[in-house]
Amino acid sequence: MAKRYDVIVVGAGPAGCMAAKTAGENGLSVALLEMKTKIPVVRRTCTQMLLPMNEDYLGERTSFNGKNGHVCFLRNGLSFNYTGPYQNIYAFEIYSLGGNNLKFGEASVRRKMGDQGRISIATDKGLLIKDLLKQATDNGVEVFPGTTVTDVKKEGDAVKVISDKKTFQGTFVIAADGANSRIVQRLGLNKDRTYYSTMSVIESYMKGLHLPAKGTVYYICAEVNGAPTLCALIPRAYEGEYNVVFITLNPKVDLMKFAHFIMKESKLAHWFKGVDLKVQLSAVGNMYTTILDPFKDNVLLVGDTIWCQESENLGALLSGGKAAIAVKIALLEGKPNREGVATYLDWWKQAFVDRYPRDLIMKNYILGAVMTNEDMDYLFSLLNEVMPASILPYTLPAHLGEAVGKVVPIIQKDRPDILAKLGRMAQEPPEQILAPHIDQSMANR
Ligand SMILES: Cc1cc2nc3c(=O)[nH]c(=O)nc-3n(C[C@H](O)[C@H](O)[C@H](O)COP(=O)(O)OP(=O)(O)OC[C@H]3O[C@@H](n4cnc5c(N)ncnc54)[C@H](O)[C@@H]3O)c2cc1C
Repeated sequence: MAKRYDVIVVGAGPAGCMAAKTAGENGLSVALLEMKTKIPVVRRTCTQMLLPMNEDYLGERTSFNGKNGHVCFLRNGLSFNYTGPYQNIYAFEIYSLGGNNLKFGEASVRRKMGDQGRISIATDKGLLIKDLLKQATDNGVEVFPGTTVTDVKKEGDAVKVISDKKTFQGTFVIAADGANSRIVQRLGLNKDRTYYSTMSVIESYMKGLHLPAKGTVYYICAEVNGAPTLCALIPRAYEGEYNVVFITLNPKVDLMKFAHFIMKESKLAHWFKGVDLKVQLSAVGNMYTTILDPFKDNVLLVGDTIWCQESENLGALLSGGKAAIAVKIALLEGKPNREGVATYLDWWKQAFVDRYPRDLIMKNYILGAVMTNEDMDYLFSLLNEVMPASILPYTLPAHLGEAVGKVVPIIQKDRPDILAKLGRMAQEPPEQILAPHIDQSMANR
């Protein structure tokens, strides 16, 4: 008969590795299944920051000790070690195509504050996963690379996890198979979610960029054929290197053409002088509303499976660890069911559902769907004050909203059309705003 595990974790990204490691440390029998054969090799675009630092997210404050690599979720008491290189990131700036910019902090000022001034850290995600895997296997976790899960089924008091290799059996399953989760789809949980759009990304690691400041993340916000499209330049863990990504919410947009325009023809082309585009990674992911109840048939959902791409690495790690602890409590108390894992479900409700409005995350994406490049240029030219230093997409819309509020009388006088567009962004549901861009997308329900 197949071995029965206390918990089977599907997906060895940040959420799954943290779940497996935490479950293993607490003495549970754990199988970690991952479709990649070389687990630490990053195959999907991620700009690899740990964010936010020095700001709460999910009611949590994260600390990172650069001397020994200890990362701790201070309020929840979960931790892990990251031994790879890192760089502090101090500020975030968003440019319009015309070259006007919004500043969330200033690197030259924040750097003087030392680690207290950082808003994020750049890591090597491959090494982060490698470290977590080691901490998992040191604690007895059995890892099955090259194993693609195709289905999960509750049978009696066990959950069967069916893969292309064999069928596994566990009391609980932690689904950490990411933004396009097969498990979420098989459980039928995508049916009730609002589908916003599909995000496509290409990524290139670049050296030798000519950027205004170090330790700063730059976004260039654009509208391409009416679709929100952007270029983001994010420091890597290695001095002088950047992750450069080109992102659109309309799959019809030709990202190579957009990249060529930004790098060779735009007003910001001088940033890229002498640098080539070599696409190393890419990503395609559906963007949905978050799942409110991340549990069904003894499967707990963590990380991007519940959000879309926007749990962020820290949200994925924290939710993975929290789910593993809940499984331990359930088994200790002899309650291998929904009631047993209530600590996880209560945490999710308080940390996310009750804290962030439903559409908040999409506010970061829809500017290019309501405004032209010229509109954005005008708006950015008015917002000259330095806003609070942050790069957390769950707090940025409020900072921006406050700054815009101060210049409303000027916009009302000069450009009432732009005020109407801002009103649309505030009032209309994002799925309505993005509707013209989803005819080429696939909602994977
Ligand atoms: C363009 C872009 C940039 C980003 N930049 C950042 C950033 O700078 N900082 C940040 O914090 N976050 C960033 N993110 C988000 C971050 O990448 C995710 O939130 C994080 O990786 C989620 O972790 P996860 O473990 O939930 O999912 P994933 O990292 O997606 O891991 C899922 C794992 O499951 C495996 N898997 C999938 N299906 C199966 C299956 N059927 N069977 C077995 N295994 C399976 C996958 O191979 C993968 O290893 C970015 C995302 C994108 C798209």
